[in-house]
Amino acid sequence: MTKRIFRSICLAAIGVFFASVVLFMGVLYDYFSQIQKNQLRMQTELAAQGVDRDGLTYFEGLDIKDYRITWIDADGTVLYDSVSDTSGMENHLEREEIRQALADGTGESSRYSVTLMERSLYCAKRLTNGTVLRLSIAQNTLLTLSLGMAQPICAIFIAALLLSLLLASRLSKKIVKPLNELDLDEPLKNDGYDELTPLLRRIDAQQRQIRRQSEELRQKQREFETVTQGMSEGIVLLNSGLTVLSINPAAARLLGTDDCAGAYILSLNRSAELRSLLQKAQDGQNAETLMELGEGRYQLNASPVMTGGKVSGIVLLLLDVTQKEMAEQLRREFSANVSHELKTPLHTISGCAELLAGGMVKPEDVPHFSSQIYTEAQRMICLVTDILRLSQLDEGTVGGKREEVDLYALAEQELAELSVPAKEAGIALRLCGEHVSVRGVPELLQSIVHNLCDNAVKYNRRDGSVTVTLKKEADAVSLSVEDTGIGIPPEHQERIFERFYRVDKSRSKEVGGTGLGLSIVKHAARLHNARIRLRSVPGSGTTITVRFPASASEDGSAKSGF
Ligand code: ADP
Repeated sequence: MTKRIFRSICLAAIGVFFASVVLFMGVLYDYFSQIQKNQLRMQTELAAQGVDRDGLTYFEGLDIKDYRITWIDADGTVLYDSVSDTSGMENHLEREEIRQALADGTGESSRYSVTLMERSLYCAKRLTNGTVLRLSIAQNTLLTLSLGMAQPICAIFIAALLLSLLLASRLSKKIVKPLNELDLDEPLKNDGYDELTPLLRRIDAQQRQIRRQSEELRQKQREFETVTQGMSEGIVLLNSGLTVLSINPAAARLLGTDDCAGAYILSLNRSAELRSLLQKAQDGQNAETLMELGEGRYQLNASPVMTGGKVSGIVLLLLDVTQKEMAEQLRREFSANVSHELKTPLHTISGCAELLAGGMVKPEDVPHFSSQIYTEAQRMICLVTDILRLSQLDEGTVGGKREEVDLYALAEQELAELSVPAKEAGIALRLCGEHVSVRGVPELLQSIVHNLCDNAVKYNRRDGSVTVTLKKEADAVSLSVEDTGIGIPPEHQERIFERFYRVDKSRSKEVGGTGLGLSIVKHAARLHNARIRLRSVPGSGTTITVRFPASASEDGSAKSGF
């Protein structure tokens, strides 16, 4: 801007200079021409009087340099000329000033030379004898005058130019200074030019509007961040070029980064699945895929954000489906296991029944086949009971109100029921500790005690022992079932609480196991916020302890030990 003002001032100064020179010279030229003409008239008058009185003798000894005097007869013949020889001169009757003088008494005219460098002024007067006296004077034309004055004009021009450059530079800086010093943060506090006031008011109004809008945007951003920060699902906002605009902590953790706003998403994860997912979203389609991220499995949903028919951004959602997939896997395995477990006793029952019905069994073998059918049917009943119990636990529909249950009494009752098989195997049953109560579902607490004691007898050795201990601790009630049985190898200890998991399948079946007992114990314990601890040494025995919190909570959200 300074440059433009500087240039404009310079151009204006030069323009004004030239215009002034032209005007000034024109006016001066006109003024001096007028003076010259008046003098010429006066001289003509004087000379005419002289010639009128003295005739041709007037010219004798006349010494004039500036003027040319010509005396012309009434017929146009030149009688005398102060410059040229009259004999060679043409008739002057047609000259304008001569014609005027002959007609009116006086005549004037001017003529330019061929080169336009000179102009001649003529003044003629008719004498009393009818002849005409003409005086002429040569005058420089404006062009000649200008050329003659070129040098001083140039000198003045250079001086004027330098002066105007200096003034233009100072002036432009002075004009621009208040503009440069404008405080646009506080537009209304400036007192520069009055002409700027409407502009400054407008800027102030727009700034207030921008501040209001940015505050609204920040507020929305804060709300969005508050919502997304707490989400367990990952959420990433991308622009159409796949640059991260916003990312919540869950997504940042999954992509293994901290704050990656501004980063190219595919530089954080280069997997082909993510690449093709985002490519589809860039093409304007909703897309989803499953991906391994960290230790989990995630469902990724990419939705394009359309603005004016074009993809302006992408919302990427990362949902943890590890649990869901695991649950589905477990369900599939469970169904397969149930069918398998039911098929075996059914085949046995069907085979025995077929033989009996076909009369192919000797009468003395009938009791054997009948007892086989009974045993398999019992196994199936146990299996179905356990499956039902488990599915009730899964669905949280186990009936019964919570009430104070005496675990000692439950254990006493259970050991009494197990006394027959224990006696057959020579196993000693012992109940230690004190009467302790737990608030819970009696049916489930009984399942816990039953399955633990039953296993302790089933997987015991001959002449072994089972000791059930009930204790009240500072903040818990513990039930521990200890046996002197076969024990569980360490590599199986983690898994025996899974459904249908058995260390030794044939032994379990032999002793009537379903593979579901400890799963029921795990679920029932979880429902009572109890923790399970297992200690087992192969060949020497197993101790399983269930610790119920002193004030068992009702929600059942605490985890069991397994
Ligand atoms: P099962 O009906 O087969 O006993 P459980 O779920 O009760 O099923 O137990 C799972 C497996 O854990 C059993 O098959 C057995 O191999 C092992 N097990 C459970 N309790 C004991 C124990 N007290 N001593 C040794 N092994 C045990």
